Amino acid sequence: MTDVGEKGRERPSRPKMRFDIPTPEPDTEEFWEACRAHRLLLRKCNECSKVHYYPRPFCPGCWSENVEWIEASGRGRVYTYSIVHRNDLPPWPDKVPYCAAIVELEEGPRMMTNVVECDFEHVAVEMLVELTWIDDIWEDESWSFPVFKPAS
Ligand SMILES: [Zn+2]
Repeated sequence: MTDVGEKGRERPSRPKMRFDIPTPEPDTEEFWEACRAHRLLLRKCNECSKVHYYPRPFCPGCWSENVEWIEASGRGRVYTYSIVHRNDLPPWPDKVPYCAAIVELEEGPRMMTNVVECDFEHVAVEMLVELTWIDDIWEDESWSFPVFKPAS
């Protein structure tokens, strides 16, 4: 099977696949399950109190394994961002342009995410944002992804 490329030449079709679907592992299954309920979980260390993201079974500050889940407030600020106009990995060619951002959460950690529901020219470093969700169905699975919008 072939399709027609940008310059009219035939090229092999790419397999139907997506690069935005996570592969939960034992340490992250609970995180993704909470996302389905629209709850953003972070890990907090009970030894040094550092909160971290992405979730790990140990504290990246002091290496203690005495960590627990806490729920994020959903408040944060844009640490940095970029408007993406081209991304060749599926499904992003259908989603450009979009705003990729690193949001610093109120609890401290910074997370890679997207800023949505905002004109690109209004996105700014230090802009206050709040958590919202993108719900998606892929094959027989449902996924919810934490993203941020301007704070109300
Ligand atoms: Zn620690």
